[in-house]
Amino acid sequence: MKIKDLLSKEKLTISFEVFPPKTESGFDSVKHATEEIAKLCPAFMSVTYGAGGGTSKYTLDIAKNIKERYGVPTLAHLTCVSSTKDTVREKISAIKEAGIENVMALRGDVPAGLENADRSLWDYRYAIDLVKELKETNPDFCIGGACYPEIHPESENQREDIKRLKEKVDAGCDFLTTQMFFDNNLLYNFLYKAREGGIWVPVIPGVMPITNANQVERAMKLSGSFMPQRFKSIVDKFGHSPEAMKQAGIAYATDQIIDLYANGITNVHVYSMNKPDVAEKIKSNLLDILGS
Ligand code: FAD
Repeated sequence: MKIKDLLSKEKLTISFEVFPPKTESGFDSVKHATEEIAKLCPAFMSVTYGAGGGTSKYTLDIAKNIKERYGVPTLAHLTCVSSTKDTVREKISAIKEAGIENVMALRGDVPAGLENADRSLWDYRYAIDLVKELKETNPDFCIGGACYPEIHPESENQREDIKRLKEKVDAGCDFLTTQMFFDNNLLYNFLYKAREGGIWVPVIPGVMPITNANQVERAMKLSGSFMPQRFKSIVDKFGHSPEAMKQAGIAYATDQIIDLYANGITNVHVYSMNKPDVAEKIKSNLLDILGS
């Protein structure tokens, strides 16, 4: 099923993100974790793609398994930066052959050592190039794109970021998923600006439950997200106690989702990071709300 057709305008839907193993030896445990998450019947599950290429096969294997065994629609991530047209086309064909209808079209991070390369020689410089390729070669795919409530770290300012985002959407994105954020006001501000900039496709906010103190630094480095004082206090208080931190982090993410829903946002993506217990707890915290 296409994600654009399953997004709700009234009821809250929750989707989960998982990531593939890096090596064959990790495959079974990741497969098991993703199956446990699939059993929670999320609206859909997204499977990330390692920009280094090593995990692209596993992205598809995991996505296909979830879809075929549990009937959960899947979204396969695909990055394009510094790849050749032939490689990307092969990967697109493999997604199609796997029966996956939804593709998250990403640029990916520029690989270390290539920051100063002559990018005009690359087949794909930005995600928009991949979106165009997908649209031209496989117009049936439902295409997602990434967006950044706190602007992409390479963008000069939000106006420029939103201008580029609009071009990407106009090239063929059916929906957008946001980078994680820990202050909902940043999301509301971004949505306002995006709508003002003429972007009208559904925007699915991405919420990351932080369940241990080490994750905080990693998440901030990865996303450049602003950490509100309220969240910092939670980490200060509970960071030393794994169980307490986990409970507090899940409660914080649940609270974010409830606030989003109370403010009219009906589809939320949870960065569940191959943790079925975290996904299960988020879902059970929202059980009556999901059923309302
Ligand atoms: P783009 O949309 O190309 O944007 C990148 C930057 O270039 C932005 O600053 C944009 O404003 C600017 N830009 C765009 N077009 C132009 C143009 N024509 N001229 C000048 N500037 C331009 N990474 C992975 O490796 N694997 C994953 O599975 C993965 N999943 C992700 C899922 C989500 C929801 C998000 C938010 C990010 C994900 N990422 C993933 C990270 C992502 O690859 C990086 O953030 C990357 O740096 C940018 O990718 P993008 O698709 O947003 O790029």
